[in-house]
Amino acid sequence: MSCIFCRIVTGDVKAELVAREPGATAFLDVSPLADGHVLVVPDDHVARLEDLGEEAAAALFRTVTRLAGPVRAAVGAAGSTIGVNNGEATGQTVPHVHVHIVPRWPGDGASSVHGIFTTGPRRPVAQVGEAIRERLAAR
Ligand code: 5GP
Ligand code: ZN
Repeated sequence: MSCIFCRIVTGDVKAELVAREPGATAFLDVSPLADGHVLVVPDDHVARLEDLGEEAAAALFRTVTRLAGPVRAAVGAAGSTIGVNNGEATGQTVPHVHVHIVPRWPGDGASSVHGIFTTGPRRPVAQVGEAIRERLAAR
C-alpha cells in the first residue's frame, strides 16, 4: 500500500489525528496553510470525488460538517475555506480524496475561492447548464 493517506487511515503512518469516524478520518496537514489546517479523507482509496460511493461520500461530508465548527473555534478563527483539489489538473498532489478545512481570519491575505480563477468562462451559461442536465439524465 503506497498511498500515504491510506497509511494514515490504517495507522501505519503517524499523523496528528483529530477525528476518526465511521468511513472518514481527519488529521492536521503536515504543511499547514494556517493554524488548524485539517484534511478529512474517506477510508476508501478513491482519487476523485465523483468516484466515491454514496455511503463514503455521506460519511466524508458528515465528518467535514461536524468538524468545521470545532476546528474554527479551536484556533479562534472567524471562518474557514473548505475545498477539494479534484484531479491532477487542479493541483491535487495526493490521489486519495481529501477535503481541506483551512481556518480564516479577516485580513489574513488569502483570497476567496473566486481568486483562484483568473480567466472567465468561454461558453454561455444556458448551454453549459443543458449539457450538464443531459449527462445527469443519462446516468
Ligand atoms: P492537495 O494538494 O493534494 O490537495 O493536498 C495534499 C495535502 O496533503 C498537502 O496540503 C500536504 O501538505 C498534505 N500532505 C501530504 N503528505 C502528507 C502526510 O504525510 N501527512 C500529512 N498530515 N499531510 C500530508
Ligand atoms: Zn489512499
